[in-house]
Formats: sequence, structure tokens, C-alpha cells
Amino acid sequence: MKNNVIKNITNKTLGILGGGQLGKMIAVEASRLGIKTCIFDPNENAPAFQNANIIINSDYNNKKALKKFLKHSDKVTYEFENIPLESLNFLEKNSQIFPGSKALKYSQDRLFEKEFISNLGITVAPFYQIKKYIDVKDALEKLKGNAILKTRKFGYDGKGQHIIKKYRIPNIKDNIEKNKYIIEGIIKFKKEISVIVIIKKDGFAVCYEPSENKHVNGILRESVFPAKISKKTKNRAKAIAVKLARSLNIIGIIAIEMFVNKNDEIIVNEVAPRPHNSGHWTMDACNISQFEALVRVIFDIPIPHIEYYHNCKMINILGENYNVIEKSLNKKYHKLYIYGKDEIKEGRKLGHINILS
Ligand code: ATP
Ligand code: MG
Repeated sequence: MKNNVIKNITNKTLGILGGGQLGKMIAVEASRLGIKTCIFDPNENAPAFQNANIIINSDYNNKKALKKFLKHSDKVTYEFENIPLESLNFLEKNSQIFPGSKALKYSQDRLFEKEFISNLGITVAPFYQIKKYIDVKDALEKLKGNAILKTRKFGYDGKGQHIIKKYRIPNIKDNIEKNKYIIEGIIKFKKEISVIVIIKKDGFAVCYEPSENKHVNGILRESVFPAKISKKTKNRAKAIAVKLARSLNIIGIIAIEMFVNKNDEIIVNEVAPRPHNSGHWTMDACNISQFEALVRVIFDIPIPHIEYYHNCKMINILGENYNVIEKSLNKKYHKLYIYGKDEIKEGRKLGHINILS
């Protein structure tokens, strides 16, 4: 290690907006590299608080708390995408935010996100903005009656989504007029994949190999590395991911979720400018995990070539399959991660298992 790297990490603190499992796993990797963390979350039981050196338990729009956060943090990143833009702008005036605020502005709103991606010439599902209830009917005509209605903002794990089949519009007229929605055509995909891209400060891109993802009711259940798609499709997926990362001025990390259809065409679903659930396999299958790579970019620590040691199937532990923990405990090739959340609830992500082979 060069001397200047030692200087970059000695007595340094990484500020993390969001104290969920992603924040926790960033904090663990930071700590492994001798870097302290200051974690900001409105929930007093945020799992990442278990691993934080400094805790700020406040709403994201509390200026006083944000100032305190800045005072303690040498660098700032986020694991939670719905930071209010006003707070983000305030923080950005005083500190560089990794992986950047441009990507966050687009990823916070599905309409802007889809427009941005398709303006780059990258295929997305057909989509229409919904302003009034009647717009749903008009869009359904164009989409031949089948579609997914999604809130533009605050959706995660399939929340805020309604699948429409054969023109049967759900009874949510009031909601549609109150909230902002988009409607998307349903992609008949043969696989869902995702690609995680790391962009270093000098612009160099490190791209993980794609993983293959299985969702049930909009929630990720499994990610498998390597994805069973052709080399050619992998390379195209990686090229699209790097193009998107660069266009969004990423310095740090971004995950791109994609569909692959029966003709091996790639359709981008969405972007997430933070470590991603579908990249948890990198914690045990590689020399450098997605979390460590992010910390390394932020603190100017070199990143070696990514080496893949194992194949891996990552299984999410949700409230309804919490018992898999017991079954996993004495399995040789299982690596278990439990997030330490305050409550076991159906559909809530509580941990994951990396099964190596
Ligand atoms: P997350 O934040 O957990 O990634 P989300 O709530 O932002 O999820 P999406 O990624 O838009 O939601 O959708 C969740 C899942 O629903 C997708 O991974 C996919 O399986 C399915 N899905 C979403 N949009 C479409 C579409 N247009 N066509 C087919 N399937 C879709
Ligand atoms: Mg998604």
C-alpha cells in the first residue's frame, strides 16, 4: 500500500445516509479497512446502528442533524434512495456525495428514469405518464389491455404496483388522482439479470459479471452467479450498464436491473445508484465485494482486477421463510447474514444466505 493510501484512510469517517442492511454492510467493509462510520437514519432501531461509530437518529430533512452529520463525515454516501432532494442539495453544497446526486434524481422518479434511459437509445418497457384516471384507459388501449401500473416515487420490493390483465383496472381511482403514476407494458422476459458497475474517480469502470435474479410478487428471492446467458448477451449487458453509469456521472457504484427476452434483447428495468440486493453474492464469490469496492472508490484505495472464486446462489431470508436460518446453520457451503431488524414481518428482508459451489 502506498503511503498516500494510508493517509486517505487513517482517522477517517464515512457518513452513510440510511441505516438499513445495505448501510450495515457498507459499514462492516469500511470498518475492515480501518474507516469509521457515521450513520443517519430516522428509525431508532436501524440495523446499521449496530455497526456505527456515530449515530444520528433523525428525519432526513432536519437541517441541524444534517449539519452534525457533515461535521462528523469526511465523505458521504447513501444506501437509501429516497433522501429528500432539498436535503441532498444541502449536503452537496458542503460535501461530495458518492456515487453522485444526478443518478439519485433520476432513480427517485420512474418517469424521469425511463425517459432518461430511453433517450440514450437503450430499450425500456413501453411506458406512459398517468395524470388522470382516463390516461390509464388510453394507455391500456395501446398496451393491448395488459400492463403494470407503478407509483413514480417511493416504490420498492414491488410496493405501489398493480398488475392489470385484460383491461381490468383496479379500484384505485382516488389514488391515481392523488399520487403520480406511470404505466408500463409487461415484458415477456426469459430471464431477469442485473449488472453492478463501479466507476473510479479517474473514470475507470469495473464491471461485475451479471447475476440472474428471481422475483416473486415483486420481491427479489434469489440471485444466481453466473447468469445462464450467452457470453454475447453478458457483454452487451455490461456495455449497457457502463454506458448508463457514465451517463449518470456515477463515481462509486450503480446496479442496473434488466430483462432478457426470448430473442436475447436487453430491456432495462431500473437503476439503483447504491449497493444492490442482487449483488450480495459478491461478498463471498469474489475477491472484492460490491460494498468494499464502493468504500475503496470513495477513499481512493486501488481496486484490483475482480476475481471470481466460486459460483454462488444468494437466497433472501424474508419474514415468511425465516426458518431457513436453522436449516442453514450447519451447512458447509452456506454463508449466513442476519441483518438484525427489530421485527419479523412477511415480505421484509431480514437476511440472506450465500450458497457457494
Ligand atoms: P426493487 O426496488 O425491489 O427492485 P421495485 O419495487 O422498484 O423493486 P421493479 O423493479 O420495477 O420494482 O419491479 C419489481 C419486479 O416486478 C421486477 O424485478 C420484475 O420481476 C417485475 N416487473 C416490473 N416491471 C415489469 C415489466 N414492465 N414487465 C415485466 N415484469 C416487470
Ligand atoms: Mg427493481
